[in-house]
Amino acid sequence: MTKHFGRSYVATPGPSVIPERVLRAMHQPAPNIYSSELEALVESIIVDLKVLVGTKYYSVIYIANGHGAWEAAIANLFAPGDEILTLNTGIFAQGWASCAEAMGIKVHTLDFGLNHPVDLDQFADRIKLDSNKTIKGIIVCQADTSTSVKNDIQGISTVLKTLNHPAILAVDCIASFGCDYFSMDDWDVDVVLSASQKGLMTPPGLAFLSFNERARECARNKQHNSLYWDWERRIFPEEFYFYFCGTAPTHHLYGLREALNMIIHEEGKMEVFKRHKRMARMIWAAIDAWALSGPITINIADPKCRSHAVTVVKVGAPYGSELRHWVEDHTGLTLGIGLGMGTKEDPNSTGIFRIGHMGHVNGNMIMGLLGSIEAGFEHLAIPRGAGAIGAAAKVLATS
Ligand SMILES: *Cc1c(COP(=O)(O)O)cnc(C)c1O
Repeated sequence: MTKHFGRSYVATPGPSVIPERVLRAMHQPAPNIYSSELEALVESIIVDLKVLVGTKYYSVIYIANGHGAWEAAIANLFAPGDEILTLNTGIFAQGWASCAEAMGIKVHTLDFGLNHPVDLDQFADRIKLDSNKTIKGIIVCQADTSTSVKNDIQGISTVLKTLNHPAILAVDCIASFGCDYFSMDDWDVDVVLSASQKGLMTPPGLAFLSFNERARECARNKQHNSLYWDWERRIFPEEFYFYFCGTAPTHHLYGLREALNMIIHEEGKMEVFKRHKRMARMIWAAIDAWALSGPITINIADPKCRSHAVTVVKVGAPYGSELRHWVEDHTGLTLGIGLGMGTKEDPNSTGIFRIGHMGHVNGNMIMGLLGSIEAGFEHLAIPRGAGAIGAAAKVLATS
């Protein structure tokens, strides 16, 4: 018999917990899509998205998931035969690269493995090799959700500027948006991708692209083959329906408006980043204590290179999967599966689990999550250090 009656907690790295307020805001009859209120709603959302991404330039909304954002970015920036460089630190950058390849783009790859961020020296060496400047774009994830690594996007941008390389820098912030600090214009990033279902606490279905004048110029100079993805038509829409190239995603917009009220107008963007840092540090403190003896470790060793949105934990096959099943059945907590971390000994990543700590999470939820995991470890008799819950409480009490 199930033992988890009570409020359950889906702590997978997306889709994230949706606040009741966002759900309630969505619970409305269909509006008149020709009304001026809907237009004002979209405009207010775009203003707040730009605040969150840190740009004075442009943001557009697509009805799509993250894969749609990938395709939108490629469709606007590059044409078949163009060459780009992907900086892989997990399977998500690789996924984006595959999307580009399917669209006829020639993709070069620098792979940094599954435990490290982009190495800026290696990146600089690769850029120096491109003396004819044939590489038109760099694609990279700020946080790769499969490894929980966080890349130094400002550092990557600085390498390009220092070496005077004109490649467009396009960053996948889908996991990290509204969780890890980001500042598009200050860091001189040309294109930023995000989506509704992670830090933005809204159901999957909206993808966002933010881009600067340089990226816009790059898109203008290419032959377009998609009306739907074309961002130029969306930034100064001749008619309201141009914003979405068709019917507006009405109820997602209601939900997102409420979520942005919470993020931008109530808690405040910098406080939201601080809260995510606190939650992440609580989780890391607990894992560090568990790691003192036995097999449990955090995938990314250096805390500076870890995302504040997601943490990948190694516990050894098959205990990652067993732990997930146990905590889900006994405590109502759902953890994320291991993704793309397979080894010869553990091809299906069953020794891995992932904790999503993005969006609508607080200290109480993280203490509960860690307590449930502790109980799961106890049930599975996984050897570990003591004091994990106390270590997390200490972070919460002092930060
Ligand atoms: C979730 C995620 C995506 C993909 O989003 P989908 O909505 O599943 O298409 C892309 N990149 C990163 C870094 C993600 O975390």
